[in-house]
Amino acid sequence: MNVRDILEAKGRNVITLKPEATLEEAMQVLAGRRIGAIVLTDDADGVAGIVSERDVVRVLGTIGVSALSESIGQMMTANVRTCTEDTTVNEAMEMMTTGRFRHLPVCQNGRLIGIISIGDVVKQRIEEVEREALQMREYIAAG
Ligand code: AMP
Repeated sequence: MNVRDILEAKGRNVITLKPEATLEEAMQVLAGRRIGAIVLTDDADGVAGIVSERDVVRVLGTIGVSALSESIGQMMTANVRTCTEDTTVNEAMEMMTTGRFRHLPVCQNGRLIGIISIGDVVKQRIEEVEREALQMREYIAAG
């Protein structure tokens, strides 16, 4: 099982903004689209950074509402870990666990082509385990 299997099930649409967008705009997108993170892209469709709800809470909790009109480029994580479609589900899970983040953009030749979340990875793993259990029960029942 790899990241391609997850993208084929959930789609490849990624909600993005430019680093020049304001924190207020980013919060509207996070709330309106019911997502936990926004990938910030450069002009070549590459990943420039990521802003998640954790960053929003950190900035609002430390700076306060005056940060709402600041650009998200100033508060994004610039050193973004990414994967490819060939990354296995277990590798993606390992990256998220050791890096302590819940979102992993998927890139190909330096361009953003999808995103997976820890929720997508857990869903995929549960389905896999259930499939294996079913196969095992069928194997045992067949005698
Ligand atoms: P999250 O758990 O995804 O809400 O993110 C927790 C923190 O990690 C935030 O500061 C994010 O900006 C950052 N982050 C999220 N995804 C990634 C990623 N793929 N690579 C690096 N940092 C990330």
